[in-house]
Amino acid sequence: MKKIVGLLACLLLFSQNVFAASTSVVINQRARKVNPVKVEVNGDRLKTEFIPFAYQGRTLVPIREITESMGANVAWNNKNRTAQISLGGNKVMLQIGSKVVYINGKKKMMDTNSIPQFATYPRAKETKTMVPLRFLSEALDFDVNWNQKQQLATISNMKAVSIIDQKKPEATEKNKPATRSNQVKESPEKEQAKENEKTRKIEKKVQAQGPVTVIIDPGHGGTDSGAVSSVDPSVKEKDLALEVSRRLSPMLRAKNYEVIETRTGDNYPTLSKRAEIANKSQAEIFVSIHFNSSNNGIASGIEVLYAPEDKVKLKEHEQIHLAKALHEELEKATGSKMRSMKKRPDLAVLKWTEMPAALCELGFLSSPEDMELICQDDYLDRLATGICNGIEKYVNNYVVTQ
Ligand SMILES: [Zn+2]
Repeated sequence: MKKIVGLLACLLLFSQNVFAASTSVVINQRARKVNPVKVEVNGDRLKTEFIPFAYQGRTLVPIREITESMGANVAWNNKNRTAQISLGGNKVMLQIGSKVVYINGKKKMMDTNSIPQFATYPRAKETKTMVPLRFLSEALDFDVNWNQKQQLATISNMKAVSIIDQKKPEATEKNKPATRSNQVKESPEKEQAKENEKTRKIEKKVQAQGPVTVIIDPGHGGTDSGAVSSVDPSVKEKDLALEVSRRLSPMLRAKNYEVIETRTGDNYPTLSKRAEIANKSQAEIFVSIHFNSSNNGIASGIEVLYAPEDKVKLKEHEQIHLAKALHEELEKATGSKMRSMKKRPDLAVLKWTEMPAALCELGFLSSPEDMELICQDDYLDRLATGICNGIEKYVNNYVVTQ
């Protein structure tokens, strides 16, 4: 009888494999239904025969492969079943089957779904230690982004280049890409990615179902002030961005747009969180609001940045049109000096958002002439009007509502 039950279970599992995206793994000696997911580390697909999976809302990845691709070191203690993972200055110690984790010596509790586990795929001989991708990534200063449609988890520690000084990130141990050893000969995964790239269809126009949803993303916030004015240190980028957002949102709502702000107070959603908010809401448009700064007082003016669709993977629409509409309407509304539009596929909120996205740098806090304008209430209104009209112009020309 046992044999028959086993056989039936096998058939059942097999049929699930065939008819659904889900598969079965053995966790804690029990077969569980899980969904295979794809994982990318700093732009490279995670190489592993043991497929990462989503289980109870968490993505679990094999510890050996993930830490290797992150460039981290792992020290095992088989007796206590603990792993000590270190990268840069960060140390994470976790234990199989335990909620308790130590991050840089500080005791933290994981949620139950994130507990590291042993897992085995049926028919596979090897048992793997699976660790929660998000938890581990965040502990090691990686940004995490989840794409529901593609069932793809992307982690990266190649931080968005500071918009403030436009310097390239230093090649410290921490933000060096983890694996760059196979640049000469391309892996099958890369060939496949290139193939996918060829077949990806880029649309000129956006199809909107129902009211057009606009994400307004006031940059920085909380402990991240963004640029601080050298002219008047009480003037901070995070506050100005929020001021403009608070003017802009009601303008858009009055025009029947659905508006979602990534923050409405002085807090800091991570860059990946901001992209996630946008992607989850299936918004049609994403606009990030920032102010600029430079080391000298000379640079001034407004600029609009965007990530060209051929340089980022997630985009399905031509990106320049939104940036252009914003650029034109900001110029009209403010009469200010406009700097040329810039391609910035490296900026997290631009590259990780799936919809047309642009980032407006609304003037230099380091420039006395820009500051004179920025400190006027009515100039902030004009900046908001410019963005509002730019969005409207883009919608009129490029968004098809059904
Ligand atoms: Zn900024």
